Amino acid sequence: MYLSIDLGEQTRATLNRPFQLLIDGAWTDSQGDDTLDVFNPADGSVIATIPAGNKQDIDRAVSAARRAFESCPWSVMTPGHRAKMLWRIADLIEARQEEFAELETLDNGKPIMMSKKVDIPASIAILRYWSGWCTKIAGQTPVVDLPGEFLAMTLREPVGVVGLITPWNFPLMAAVSKLGPALAAGCTVVLKPAEQTSLTAIRLGEVILEAEVPAGVVNIVTGLGGVAGAALAEHDDVDKISFTGSTAVGKSLIGAARGNLKRLTLELGGKSPTIILPDADLAKAIPGAANAIFLNSGQVCVAGSRLYVAQRHFDEVIEGLVKIAARYRLGPGLDPTTIMGPLVSDKQQKRVLDYIGSARAEGANVVAGGNPVGDQGYFVEPTIIRDVNPQMRVVQEEIFGPVLVVTAVEDLDELAALANDTIYGLSASIWTRDISIAYKLAKKIRAGTVTINSGSITGPNLPFGGFKQSGWGRENGVEGIESFTELKTVITAL
Ligand code: NAD
Repeated sequence: MYLSIDLGEQTRATLNRPFQLLIDGAWTDSQGDDTLDVFNPADGSVIATIPAGNKQDIDRAVSAARRAFESCPWSVMTPGHRAKMLWRIADLIEARQEEFAELETLDNGKPIMMSKKVDIPASIAILRYWSGWCTKIAGQTPVVDLPGEFLAMTLREPVGVVGLITPWNFPLMAAVSKLGPALAAGCTVVLKPAEQTSLTAIRLGEVILEAEVPAGVVNIVTGLGGVAGAALAEHDDVDKISFTGSTAVGKSLIGAARGNLKRLTLELGGKSPTIILPDADLAKAIPGAANAIFLNSGQVCVAGSRLYVAQRHFDEVIEGLVKIAARYRLGPGLDPTTIMGPLVSDKQQKRVLDYIGSARAEGANVVAGGNPVGDQGYFVEPTIIRDVNPQMRVVQEEIFGPVLVVTAVEDLDELAALANDTIYGLSASIWTRDISIAYKLAKKIRAGTVTINSGSITGPNLPFGGFKQSGWGRENGVEGIESFTELKTVITAL
């Protein structure tokens, strides 16, 4: 039982409170009796129980969001006021950083150092970034090419009531990456966090009330994807769904959105390549490739899960990676010395081990890791697999765990084709000293983000999203906020 490791008083108090749904500015019970146990991934113990919201709860939340959008001061509130509110939410999270970090680690399993240094500070920065956008949304004044005199302008108006559906790998960051631009644009929202990791979203709801965001502007319904998530996606009074999750569920939302043709942005899966060219600085590229796959136990949409290495460096790179994998200290996320935590759930652990088993069965060689760790919790060793071929499941499919497949490449002209040889197109990394070659290769790779001599980098101002089956649309930056608006053209004859 790892709950006892240095948990702050505030975190304990939060865990001891009953959890409810946030609807119309108040905490309320679900209309049904179903609940979900929240597991500590480090030992499988139950740390909380949350409501499993149902269709009736979603109906109530959407109605509240609609009323808030149509009538409450939110939609007419000055942009400056909205900016202050977003900033205030960021301040309130900052004042409770320790608690948010502990909740995130307890819920997801990730190392506490990561929650403290990445997830929570980044969430605060994301909200502050979007606070700035409230006062910067603008249209244009296009010329009108007709006889007579006209003045035309375009207006960016909030898209309306938005459903935000988020995954479990970066729970708070994913929630605020959607909440920030939605609120900055003047939308009202219903947030459905991942059922495995809803605790920081619930705590965020408390902070939102404390920041005096008007009732109904933000509603939070916890629950299963197939129940609460599906009801939100299908709801005819929801104007847009902003979804981050698996490609399979993303595809199902296309059908769900059909009823009222709601807008859809989809941030989906990936199988991102890391490429080490012959002239790469191996002292940087090898740890870079390891970090790209092992960060957050590989549960990262942009994880560099396929590594392509110039033939002449293959053995050296494998040797370097195996040494790094052996140094990873696995342990409960709350232990400050832990470098790699458990996977989020027993289901995820089984899924990852099944993929490793399939690689072995198909004749690949597991040269590091490949096994579960300990007799409690959902740990999997950092795993490196060689002697793969492009048809194997471990090369084609997203595993979402600490599993790297490594391929030696003789003919460098084949690199772009190899990099593009999956259904995904989220991200890619190229390691080389030759910037000209790097750019030429970057242009050929069909991915939303390409990094050169670095693992994947993201930020609220950097457009993020996928080519191919990695998604529809972009989050972050100008494109990110525009996706929460409708564009209206107003033309006046003068
Ligand atoms: P998932 O698709 O199972 O679940 C994501 C969210 O969708 C959860 O909130 C879930 O409850 C909800 N959901 C599930 N079924 C639903 C349905 N039928 N209707 C509506 N909502 C439903 O994904 P996951 O396993 O939680 O997350 C891992 C996946 O997310 C990976 O594929 C990963 O690549 C992807 N991901 C992508 C990004 C990105 O930005 N591209 C970021 C993080 C994770």
